[in-house]
Amino acid sequence: MHSQASVEMNGFCDASTANYGACSYLRSEAKGNAEAHLLCAKSRVAPLKALTIPILELSTACLLAELIVNVKETIDFDCTFHCWSDSSIVLAWIRQPPREFNVFVSNRIAKIQEMTKIVAWHHVPTDLNPADVVSRGYAVKNLPERRSTALIGTVGTDISINCKFLNSFDKLQRVFAYIYRFIAVDEISFGTVLLLRSVQQVHIAVEYEVLSQGQPCPPKSKLISLRPRLQNASLDYETKHPILLPKDHPVTRAIIVYYHEKYFHAGPQAPRKFVASVINKCVRCFRMKPVAWEHVMGSLPAGRVQPNPFYHKSEARNKAPHKCYIVVFVCFSMKAAHLEVVQDLTTDSFTAALRRFISLRGSPRIWSDNGL
Ligand SMILES: [Zn+2]
Repeated sequence: MHSQASVEMNGFCDASTANYGACSYLRSEAKGNAEAHLLCAKSRVAPLKALTIPILELSTACLLAELIVNVKETIDFDCTFHCWSDSSIVLAWIRQPPREFNVFVSNRIAKIQEMTKIVAWHHVPTDLNPADVVSRGYAVKNLPERRSTALIGTVGTDISINCKFLNSFDKLQRVFAYIYRFIAVDEISFGTVLLLRSVQQVHIAVEYEVLSQGQPCPPKSKLISLRPRLQNASLDYETKHPILLPKDHPVTRAIIVYYHEKYFHAGPQAPRKFVASVINKCVRCFRMKPVAWEHVMGSLPAGRVQPNPFYHKSEARNKAPHKCYIVVFVCFSMKAAHLEVVQDLTTDSFTAALRRFISLRGSPRIWSDNGL
């Protein structure tokens, strides 16, 4: 569907003595081209109790009103609504105040008027009413239009926002996997890709468009300020380049809740405000109020808290101890430390310490923040 298209929803209803039902068609028009597709339909078996055709027509108008309300809650684009019925009696009833009828009719009229306040009701000839198929039944092979799939999408709309299962990332993944199966591929993992991609296409739309065409990111983009520090690490691509999501999006919230519950209500490892705010709302955590267990600590010994320089005491008798220093060699990846004592801050002392280190540990590649 074109983003500039004018869209209208047309609902039709019809009843027979056996069934009654309603259907809705989405019609879009842009640049002189108009298209209409069946969006959804609903049918009911007529009650065993003998009812007049106008009463059944009124019931089907009520069903159509419910269908239109459901559709209105689901879609997130501007759209005008029209309802069509082939019963002039029902159309006349809907325009009257409900109190003039008996209880059965007045209840339904009031319901229809309440649910279709902003909807225009029109008359459609019986032979042009598409809901006729719903009410009278039709063999599948005789249907005028058989479409196995109909995909409706709008440009620049976050389809995940309107998903009803926003609380559960697990369900979100499955819903989008189901959608993806309709399009082309039958792999469930692509559902997650589709879901996250749809979020990115809206919230970082400019960058997404440019980068997918192989062009550099715009200089004012916030993505430029992201400087990943693990480019040279021997990690897989996903770990080095995590998927970017907006921080306060319902999908992000669902992911946090999913992993919080998966790992038995664990707390956040990194101090992220949004993560903490989501976890603070966890009912189970609130009920349990887990308090981190702490050791009972005694007073620290004096040598630990009072600063003292290092002194080296020579083995020679009566020789006063003299101040000394320590060279710290730290392993870059494992953070293992090697200490070497030096007598003073001269180059000779350091060179001697380095020689001792190399003779013990082998010759390493050395990094220093001072002069190398
Ligand atoms: Zn929790």
